[in-house]
Amino acid sequence: MSAFELTAEDDIVMAAPELEGLVRRIFQTLGSDAREAGLIAEHMVAANLAGHDSHGVSLIPLYCRMVREGKVRPNTRVSVVLDHGAIVSLEGHRGFGQATADEAMTIAVERTAKHGLSVVALRPSHHVGRIGHWAERCAAAGHVSIHFVNVIHAPPVVAPFAGRDARLHTNPIALGIPRGNKDPVILDFATSRVAQGKMRVLMARGGAAPDGYLIDSSGNPTNDPSVVFRPPLGALLPFGDHKGSGLGLLADILAGSLSGGGTFHHANAVDGVYVNNMISFVLNPALLGNETEREEQIEAVVNHFVASPPRDPAAPVLIPGQPEARKRKHRLAAGIPIDRMTWNEIAMAARAAGLAL
Ligand code: NAD
Repeated sequence: MSAFELTAEDDIVMAAPELEGLVRRIFQTLGSDAREAGLIAEHMVAANLAGHDSHGVSLIPLYCRMVREGKVRPNTRVSVVLDHGAIVSLEGHRGFGQATADEAMTIAVERTAKHGLSVVALRPSHHVGRIGHWAERCAAAGHVSIHFVNVIHAPPVVAPFAGRDARLHTNPIALGIPRGNKDPVILDFATSRVAQGKMRVLMARGGAAPDGYLIDSSGNPTNDPSVVFRPPLGALLPFGDHKGSGLGLLADILAGSLSGGGTFHHANAVDGVYVNNMISFVLNPALLGNETEREEQIEAVVNHFVASPPRDPAAPVLIPGQPEARKRKHRLAAGIPIDRMTWNEIAMAARAAGLAL
């Protein structure tokens, strides 16, 4: 089991619908209308179900604080900046990303159905969550999609390849490919070794990061996950050395400069708000024809790929998206585990919002 899958005997375990109801109530108490609270709750619980606890209910205390400090305004809707039919630019007004990105994806899916492809840029929104969620949305409509996201306004947490201090964010990329009635291929990753939130979850569980993930404030290797949260700040390393480092930079350029929301650099005001820009490229593959042949080719390569004999019998070869699908199946049956520290923080945030818990 990886360091990011720790559980403990005193974990709170909740069924997904019960947890979703709780999250909805918390955000309604904070001022979100039923639509927005429902979208946040659905997204967070879907992230927990997929095994990405960093993007699930552990974010509640942070989001509550952002609302209290006036840094996120509930019920903020996107506005259209430019509309060229297949190319649309949206302003997110720093609204809850789970809701603004939902609006962006509704437009992306509609425009792709109409024009065959679309490019939808969404500029400053509060955290848009797990990016695979948006690739899954497009795949469910039968569309192939690629999403690039950057982060601005929060302190940087990722060192460029060969650098010794944090200059970038975890700038994620997600790609989705539909597979008819089978689970889509969803490759969804931070361009750092892992998402920053995984270090928060690890801290809450008292775990240590694996070797090669982090450097401290002097640029030396460390296993202490707190170095990306508490001064003196260190940094996460990019995944895949120079390749992940380059992809992180490109995600910043594509999401930040094409959306107009801005890339991350020294001139950005760092005000502690986790603001995302996202650009999504969406394609209806049916318009390229050869539907049957395409589906056969996808299945052929997937089967060929997973047939590689595993080096460790306990760790079979999986396609991207399969670990999340497996975890979803397991957690839908067994419930979602939440560590005690995170649960106590959620309860405190709920009580501060005025909800008895
Ligand atoms: P990760 O390292 O767990 O990688 C996830 C990807 O790798 C998935 O596509 C998964 O299917 C695939 N994968 C994992 N294990 C696999 C295996 N054994 N075999 C085959 N494929 C495998 O994830 P991460 O990089 O830590 O990112 C976690 C989440 O954080 C993502 O959902 C990402 O979108 C999100 N994120 C969001 C932001 C933001 O600003 N909103 C920033 C960074 C990351």
